[in-house]
Amino acid sequence: MSPETLLASFSELAISAPLLQAIKEIGYETPSPIQAKSIPCLLDGRDLLGQAQTGTGKTAAFALPILNRLNVLLKQPQALVLTPTRELAIQVAEAFQSYARHLEGFHVLPIYGGQSMEIQLRQLKRGVHVIVGTPGRIIDHLKRRTLSLASVAALVLDEADEMLKMGFIDDVEWIIEQAPPERQIALFSATMPDVIRKVAKRHLREPAEIRIHTKTATVEALAQYYWLVSGIHKLDALTRILEVEDFDAMLVFVRTKTATEELAEKLEARGYAAAALNGDMNQAVREKTVERLKNTTLDILVATDVAARGLDVERISHVVNYDIPYDTEAYIHRVGRTGRAGRTGRAILFVAPRERRMLGAIERATRQKIKEMQLPTHQDIADRRIEQFKQLVANTLEGEELSFYRQLVQHLMDERDLAAVDVASALTFLVQRERPLLVTEKAREEKAPIIPASSRDKWADKTPRRRDTLGSDRVLYRLEVGRDHGVNPKDIVGAIANEADIPGKQIGHIKLYAAFSTVDLPAELSAAMLKKLEKIRVLNQPLRIRRIDEDERSADQARSIDVPSEAKAKTKSESFPESSRTRAKSGPVEDK
Ligand code: AMP
Repeated sequence: MSPETLLASFSELAISAPLLQAIKEIGYETPSPIQAKSIPCLLDGRDLLGQAQTGTGKTAAFALPILNRLNVLLKQPQALVLTPTRELAIQVAEAFQSYARHLEGFHVLPIYGGQSMEIQLRQLKRGVHVIVGTPGRIIDHLKRRTLSLASVAALVLDEADEMLKMGFIDDVEWIIEQAPPERQIALFSATMPDVIRKVAKRHLREPAEIRIHTKTATVEALAQYYWLVSGIHKLDALTRILEVEDFDAMLVFVRTKTATEELAEKLEARGYAAAALNGDMNQAVREKTVERLKNTTLDILVATDVAARGLDVERISHVVNYDIPYDTEAYIHRVGRTGRAGRTGRAILFVAPRERRMLGAIERATRQKIKEMQLPTHQDIADRRIEQFKQLVANTLEGEELSFYRQLVQHLMDERDLAAVDVASALTFLVQRERPLLVTEKAREEKAPIIPASSRDKWADKTPRRRDTLGSDRVLYRLEVGRDHGVNPKDIVGAIANEADIPGKQIGHIKLYAAFSTVDLPAELSAAMLKKLEKIRVLNQPLRIRRIDEDERSADQARSIDVPSEAKAKTKSESFPESSRTRAKSGPVEDK
């Protein structure tokens, strides 16, 4: 990206307040290069010939100028977008709808073959402002005179080369001819074959030509992989990668500010030390966050391109392109954040099938082949956990003072006539409960916890780092799941954060009892959140969450014995073992 495109903000682009508001809410930080270049031309009323593919942000590049000049009171089609496929028509219509969320009374209609004519006619009669359709069905309507282009001021040909490939190009030209002569045309195409150039020449008037140039650059000391997004959610894919990749620090790139926050929350809820880095944060907060990555209190940063500009942290061993970059320069910039100081970095790119073209462009720009990667399987994860477990046992034997525990185990064996292997098996079982060694599909479906692959000591450092301080207006809730159900605090945090959309930092202290647990949550939860909360299940147990009033709370506190760890150890050695077992059973086991 060139400096001027990076600096441009949407507010500099002279688009109306309701559109700016929508963009802010959606979370776009800066215009993508194609937007920064196209929007001013289109706002000026010029025709445009743009070479851009899916993933560059071209939809907003033409949708925003169209919406900017729309008269909502005039219930006539004022813009027509032609797309090669029904899927794209729907996607583009949805994008219009979302950018127009603050334009009251705005209607966009996708029109494509295969959908009932009746429904389309009814919607057309109701009055629509923008039509997005495939050429064949648009022609049907024009010929039947159920659609008129008389008020159309802007025409967009989206993915023109695809329309050409599908044999629609004559239809497209015919449609252009039905529009008023003073219409503005924007033609977007990923490639510019001669036929498309000729169409442009015939119908566009002194178009601005926009091309996102692809600078080549060598990316050294980098192992690059891509994963073709299919079947599995990106979040699930990322957590699998986190489990098996040996990473020191990781930078995850997403497109929007909102996405940085959402993804960082979700990773946090899964126990990773993750934080967002976006342009909404002021310089001081950003610097502090980067400092935390440097001093290892954070392992993962979820960032936008703008926020990560110039980031130089040696620890970054991995860059994950969770959302594909807009152009090859952005890719080169992103992956340049790893492989610092002569180390070999790893870059992983998530590519949706529709974004494959960008993958090819990146390979050409970096003059490197990017290898396809297979996601770690459950078996890989299980193998890895077992390996880590063995290592942890070995490290503990080597590095810890165990005489008290040896005594304890010996005592247990003698008292109950047990073999060492049986005692060890039972302890292994207990240790792995919150992070099962046997990872199965079923366990994952039940949202089995995925615990941090903190790069240093993955098993010893199981206490997730403390979240931000909590506000004071908090209420205690009771959940009908407890230790006996096999849950742990992380399951509960994960479920509440993910299913009820309550940010991880708002979830307070969790206490686990045998049959139930308690959690501190904000006093003012919305009705929608409460409804979601009521339905949540953890390890297949309904939470049946409810508020606890003050009396019940004090009774709860009286029942729970919160013994400080040294005191506990002391008590154990004195009156070992019966009393400690009873205590462990009645007291809360773990904070989150
Ligand atoms: P498109 O190339 O139009 O299909 O857009 C690809 C994706 O980029 C969509 O998910 C858009 O929501 C997103 N997007 C478009 N413009 C921006 C922007 N300026 N900032 C962040 N995301 C964007």
